[in-house]
Amino acid sequence: MAKANTVFVCSNCGNESSKWFGRCPACNEWNTCYEEKLTSKTNSKSGTKKVSTPVKLNDVKKQDIIRTSTGFEELDRVLGGGLVKGSLTLVGGEPGIR
Ligand SMILES: [Zn+2]
Repeated sequence: MAKANTVFVCSNCGNESSKWFGRCPACNEWNTCYEEKLTSKTNSKSGTKKVSTPVKLNDVKKQDIIRTSTGFEELDRVLGGGLVKGSLTLVGGEPGIR
């Protein structure tokens, strides 16, 4: 809902009105009304709600993890038996450090 809000302000006393006025209702000055644009920052983000359903711990554990051997016994041991499909494993090392 993009609403270009304009407010009419009295240059004499600062009285704000939603309607244009020839004579300020607050200070009774004539021709002090000027238009001022308001940028509405009322973005309603309450519409997007993330609904997550709770999962029993037993159900989570049921999932079998298939580990793929890397071919390196040492690396497999570090990874806990091998690479897990769908997981990302960063293998790195600084040259010179052994
Ligand atoms: Zn005024």
